[in-house]
Amino acid sequence: MRTIYLASGNAHKLHELQTALEEAGLPLCVKGPAEIGGMPEVEETGSTFEANSLLKAQGLRSVGPADGWFLADDSGIEIDALEGRPGVISARYAGAECDDEANNDKVIEEMKGVPEGERSCRFRCVLALVGEATEETFSGACQGTLLFGRRGEGGFGYDPLFLPDESESTFAEISLEEKAKISHRARALAKLVAWLENRRKN
Ligand code: IMP
Repeated sequence: MRTIYLASGNAHKLHELQTALEEAGLPLCVKGPAEIGGMPEVEETGSTFEANSLLKAQGLRSVGPADGWFLADDSGIEIDALEGRPGVISARYAGAECDDEANNDKVIEEMKGVPEGERSCRFRCVLALVGEATEETFSGACQGTLLFGRRGEGGFGYDPLFLPDESESTFAEISLEEKAKISHRARALAKLVAWLENRRKN
């Protein structure tokens, strides 16, 4: 059975991938970076989600077995009125040592004068899969509006400020199950699974 090594130690992301592959009946084994000595240090120097996810996947590949597949993700929020920012620097928008609270405060401040109707934004997620003769990226997006202030207690990151077009609740107000139906990650993951299914058939 071929193994996919995931460039993340996050147990939730590992479980999410495992479940998606199982549901599709794909005979693939999922392992974290710990199984091959840990995730090497990778500088996310790319200016796109594609570039950064590929850097992480290739970074893990450099310490893994030749016959493995290596998967990495990169995600963030793009706000049109801010010319696509925070984008690839979503996690550290308010500075290298910042947290979600500081990032949200910065976005709220920058978007203060932007009227309703000009507050479109989207979460984007890109998954990169690399291995011998394989270099693929899968992109998923969730379109929505950036609110003037936080709404909801759940979620993480920019969830309290994000109202998806497909719901009346913010990402911090909806259940994990509901988020999994419309999220950027779920959509990128669905494309990866479709690609793997197709490859298995051919
Ligand atoms: P990562 O690359 O998946 O670690 O995510 C980068 C950053 O983008 C996170 O630290 C969050 O600030 C933001 N982000 C990505 N996906 C989401 C999401 O689903 N909800 C809220 N914030 C997100």
